[in-house]
Amino acid sequence: MMRQSILALNAGSSSIKFALYDLASPQVLQLVSRGTLDLGDVPTLRATAADGTALCERQLTADKPRDTAIGEMLNWVRGELGARKLICAGHRIVHGGSAFIEPVRLTPAIIEAIDRLTPLAPLHQPRSLAPVRAIAALQPDLPQVGCFDTAFHRTIEPLVRRFALPREYEGEGLRRYGFHGLSYEYIAGRLGEISPSLVAKRTIIAHLGNGASLCALRGGKSVDTTMGFSALDGLVMGTRCGAIDPGVLLYLLLERGVAAGELQTMLYERSGLLGVSGISGDMRTLEASDDPHADEAMELFAFRAAREAAALANTMGGLECLVFTAGIGERSSSIRKAICGKLTWLGVALDQHANDAHAEIISRPDSKVEIRVVATDEEKIVARHSRVAMQA
Ligand code: ADP
Repeated sequence: MMRQSILALNAGSSSIKFALYDLASPQVLQLVSRGTLDLGDVPTLRATAADGTALCERQLTADKPRDTAIGEMLNWVRGELGARKLICAGHRIVHGGSAFIEPVRLTPAIIEAIDRLTPLAPLHQPRSLAPVRAIAALQPDLPQVGCFDTAFHRTIEPLVRRFALPREYEGEGLRRYGFHGLSYEYIAGRLGEISPSLVAKRTIIAHLGNGASLCALRGGKSVDTTMGFSALDGLVMGTRCGAIDPGVLLYLLLERGVAAGELQTMLYERSGLLGVSGISGDMRTLEASDDPHADEAMELFAFRAAREAAALANTMGGLECLVFTAGIGERSSSIRKAICGKLTWLGVALDQHANDAHAEIISRPDSKVEIRVVATDEEKIVARHSRVAMQA
């Protein structure tokens, strides 16, 4: 019998990650291959089999990079299917607004409704929708499912998600939403698999990648998070500023005459680690640099992450577990050490050897807060939701 497969796509700012899963049984997803379409100056497709064996590394045509490259990636996936039938493509969609709080089958009307949320995430939403549209054009009969990064935060209470603005604006959707929800959902699930007792702990998950945020979990549910109305809020990120006094924006607009579009580019693409270091938004590059501005950028990153963590601990009334994930969280022992070092007063005690070894548990036995490193897998959550949506 033909195997049924699901393709999960995770479109980010500079790359699209994808993973192909077989439905080994109605409940079990088995990874077949995964890859990345790097959308830099020279679009490059890389893929490996489930066991890590390289399957593909090739440069794609560079004209009209994004759409052409997405099409080539999909053709590569289709060529790899062999005796499999692709039953669905699932997508990470950054913004679901107030309406999309569950995964949804992507009909043309739903795609339009998601597109109407673009003003809420002007840079990210079009990137989420690009592979959806590419697949709809290439293979219109293939069912597609959208999974929303905002949805995991639907459990955040009105008090926590409200801005102190005139009330009528809240009705227009001006509230905190939160992002990175698929990553948080995956980690929350992993914690439950590791031990049910972990689910009961007051937990902060630190998703530290190019984009970075924290999520406060109680009983496995989001009760607070550092990103807000937009993916700009909260932590210092690779190229985004994080939380900023709104008076700065008024000053730049009204006194300095900075154009709105220029301000948007500055806040999303020229700030954060890149802006402060003047070197790069990439943590590995900063760690390798001996420029004092690189150190200042990393210090600010850690300071602000610890400060926001303390605020989330306050929302939960305590902290019992701290989980690091995503590129920086999983791989930078020095950033983990810098953040934990500022949270000792909350009972955080890092085991230096375990941290250097990127162990699963990196807290000392006497630490009041259990500290863990857990690899995230947003594609897997997308595939799971897609399977459920297809079986509904
Ligand atoms: P994205 O948000 O694009 O999915 P990732 O989760 O892949 O990003 O994280 C990218 C970040 O992780 C970059 O800043 C990168 O430098 C950093 N990173 C990756 N590997 C390491 C490492 N070994 N040490 C320090 N930082 C790392």
